[in-house]
Amino acid sequence: MIIVIKGSLTFHYALLYPFTHKSLSTGNRMTIIHADLALLPSGWSENVCVALGDDGCISAVNSADARTVAGSRVACLLPAPVNAHSHAFQRAMAGLTERRGKNLQDNFWTWRELMYRFLEKLTPEHVQAIAAMVQMEMLEAGYATNVEFHYLHHSPDGTPYQNRAEMADRIIAAAAQTGVGLTLLPVHYQFGGCDGRSLTRGQVRFKNDLDGFAALCEGLRPSLKRLGPDAGFGIAPHSLRAVSKDSFIHSRSLASGRPFHMHLAEQTAEVDEVLHYLGCRPVEWVLENIGPNPDCCFIHCTQMLPHETKALAQTGAVAGLCPMTEANLGDGIFDGVTWLETGGRIAIGSDSNIRISLSEELRSLEYSQRLRDKSRTVLATSALSTGRYIFEAMTLGGAQVAGRKTGRIEAGYWADLLAIDTSAITNFSSNGDVIIDTFIFAGDDRLVQEVWSAGRHVVTSGRHFAHKQITETYRGVLSAFRGWL
Ligand code: ZN
Repeated sequence: MIIVIKGSLTFHYALLYPFTHKSLSTGNRMTIIHADLALLPSGWSENVCVALGDDGCISAVNSADARTVAGSRVACLLPAPVNAHSHAFQRAMAGLTERRGKNLQDNFWTWRELMYRFLEKLTPEHVQAIAAMVQMEMLEAGYATNVEFHYLHHSPDGTPYQNRAEMADRIIAAAAQTGVGLTLLPVHYQFGGCDGRSLTRGQVRFKNDLDGFAALCEGLRPSLKRLGPDAGFGIAPHSLRAVSKDSFIHSRSLASGRPFHMHLAEQTAEVDEVLHYLGCRPVEWVLENIGPNPDCCFIHCTQMLPHETKALAQTGAVAGLCPMTEANLGDGIFDGVTWLETGGRIAIGSDSNIRISLSEELRSLEYSQRLRDKSRTVLATSALSTGRYIFEAMTLGGAQVAGRKTGRIEAGYWADLLAIDTSAITNFSSNGDVIIDTFIFAGDDRLVQEVWSAGRHVVTSGRHFAHKQITETYRGVLSAFRGWL
């Protein structure tokens, strides 16, 4: 049972931009979390005391001083993971694309056409409201961090806004409002296909040449800096379909050791197009031209041959998996068995945001492997249960792709923390692995009790501190689109 000692946490939230994450702490008071059970880097530990510093980091674990200080009491404390891949604006079209209509061949590409029509209508105000909703839902699902793969840059006719970073600033403003940890990845997008064809009308809002993209990256820096020291930055050339080889080289230099993300091999038609125009399959191309390393996150490693899976896994790059979106779009099934057996690293993202659910993403990943292999506990190891193994793997991989010192309950790491409700009827055990398995396979995100992001206590008793305000604003955006599609 979780007992939160009300009144011991007196945070003052900065609700609206340009207030920053830094204003969320409480002077020099020490914030303490007492956990009956916590997942530490060494494994499960009972009666753990975690001290949070004013800088948003964990200042101590199990120090004698802190044990005497009152604070929050939680039952089961975990490092709160990173949501490694999101296109926030797509959340507002969730549920609108599930009808077949006259199209008997509905697939990823027809979905994409609807998505393009939808985003023609979006204003910066809409994007900020949608992003705030998405970030709030992520926090309430148990994530502490949003890695936003941001490619909607310009006005509907493709003209840059007066402030070239207007849309990026709106994502940042949403993060200032929600308190989520943000790693922002401006996306470079040049073409409509591997042959360098022009962008369609629906794609012109994404376009930048090399200079324009560099200016965009520079333009968003001041806002990101104001957000606070845990805000992160990386670079994302969209995909082999959308940028030239020159852009990949340019992007790599702009990233300069920071996170480097790209869509890799989501659809079979995408692989065929790359093969036709570039003369090799996507994985072969990136191995030959990009030099994958631990800075890299390849989103959608779905269409890979076994030898490609092994070769890419061995580079230390992370496979950015989006199980619910990949299922919703009918992409196919990632070969998690070969990838993980080869030492590959994984992170989990919500991508299209058709649903935002940490527990369901992890469940979907495991179930996809079971359905393919006609087996059970496919991703478990001899030492760790299925849920424990997936959760730890995606938490560490998420930290890597966000470029964020997170994923461990350890002094010096950002205080990204998640408390799970163990009093739920679905839970029968005080065993830590069983609690995580229950959260993923028998329960859902309603078991998320408390969430801290870089020390900001953003979710209390399962609810974000600005839930009502953010939801009402978002509802207003949806009503503007009602009946349009
Ligand atoms: Zn994506």
